Amino acid sequence: MSQTQDSSAETSTTKRRTFMAGLGALAGSGALGQTTSARESGSNGTTGRRRNVILTIPDGGSRTHDTAARYLRAYENDASAFPANIEDVELGIDRAEYVGSMSTYPDDPEQLITDSGAAATAMATGQKSYTGAISVDHDGRPIETILERASDAGYATGLVTTTQMTHATPAAFAAHVEDRGQQADIACQYVRQSDVDVFMGGDRSHFRAEERDDGADLIGEARDRGYQYLETASDLESVDDGKVLGLFSETGHFEYAVDRQADDENTQPGLPTMTEAAIDVLEARSEQGFFLLVEGGRIDHAGHANDPAMLPEQLEHDEAVEVAMDYAGDGSGQGNGRGPTDTLVVNVADHETGGLVLGRDSYDMNWEYIAEQSLTQERLASELEDASSQSALASTLEDHTGIDDLSEDDLAELEADPSAIEGRDSVVNRRAGLAWGSDAHTATDVPIYAKGDNAAYFGGHHENDDLFAGLEAALGLR
Ligand SMILES: [Zn+2]
Repeated sequence: MSQTQDSSAETSTTKRRTFMAGLGALAGSGALGQTTSARESGSNGTTGRRRNVILTIPDGGSRTHDTAARYLRAYENDASAFPANIEDVELGIDRAEYVGSMSTYPDDPEQLITDSGAAATAMATGQKSYTGAISVDHDGRPIETILERASDAGYATGLVTTTQMTHATPAAFAAHVEDRGQQADIACQYVRQSDVDVFMGGDRSHFRAEERDDGADLIGEARDRGYQYLETASDLESVDDGKVLGLFSETGHFEYAVDRQADDENTQPGLPTMTEAAIDVLEARSEQGFFLLVEGGRIDHAGHANDPAMLPEQLEHDEAVEVAMDYAGDGSGQGNGRGPTDTLVVNVADHETGGLVLGRDSYDMNWEYIAEQSLTQERLASELEDASSQSALASTLEDHTGIDDLSEDDLAELEADPSAIEGRDSVVNRRAGLAWGSDAHTATDVPIYAKGDNAAYFGGHHENDDLFAGLEAALGLR
């Protein structure tokens, strides 16, 4: 780390406070490094024990999504023993010691149903705001986030997601803009004003000089500020203990889990891998402990598309929850070999997406079709478009869905319009017995799963802006 960065690090807390008090849209170029001085002094009053909080958000998840993940896991474990083997499944969420529920509506007279920006703002700041807000109030004033509170108190912090790095959910923990669409500003605030130690997500475009209106080379600036810059899963293996900026797609989100697995050339890491890597780095970054946000961000997108590929996405998220639950250990506080540690893991969706229903006007479901769908419906539609004959189309369909008995009429219909393989009335949804009530978010409550230090707080029913106080308490900040 250079001399310049060292001196900026010492004043970072002061600068952030100035930023928090005076920020309108995007403040100037406050050079914020890490809060080295706070970290070394142990100034948050938690002397003796490291404290960690890992907040995992399955974006667009729900109790139904969790049930569906359990069934799919059982089916994949042993199709011949299904459904009797459902009881043998232990998901990451099953390690929770307390389960609660949460309301998700925003503070918005125009919309009862939240978007991810308002939802994450409520969870990150303890204050509900309007849809589209990124941790600002109705007057556009920034509201301090749990990540910023933690960072100022000397904790290391990290944001991990499968969406664009600058997408609403991670952004609401470390940036402040009036509209979630201001992704260029969010990238700028991440690099120039936040104290986040680990960024892992998608989309380099908002960080690249060539693609930014202001021509700022944010990747170069991040390197100057001590970040190791990563672009592929194999880059993750060479991560040292320094700060990390991992941007694993050129533009847009990560590929969906099923599409990633089907593509040998895909170099994006999975969410569990990123979670492990982030924990490793964060552990070494502060003697105090850390705050880490992990978002399974594409569950929501598959929900919008009413695509059964949502289920492998949900399972991948659950594997990341499992990594966090493993890390939290048995509560003895000796899990990581670095001395007494208390870790709180909270898994909670920001809202439900898709109005998912397990069942479709009958008492039967066929999980084989869900288990055998090996591409997203969107990707499958383009494969079907490429099929040169009806028999090629039939074999592509069989390869990627297990469906081998479509009538000639149905095949002819698909041949005429391959996009019929997509959406809520797709053949996989119909055959599997999966129904969807919406192609948008819904207003239903979502479950909270918590384990570890202060987990009891999360039992019972909560508003989404209640989460903040429980996270603060777990970090000894309240
Ligand atoms: Zn969301």
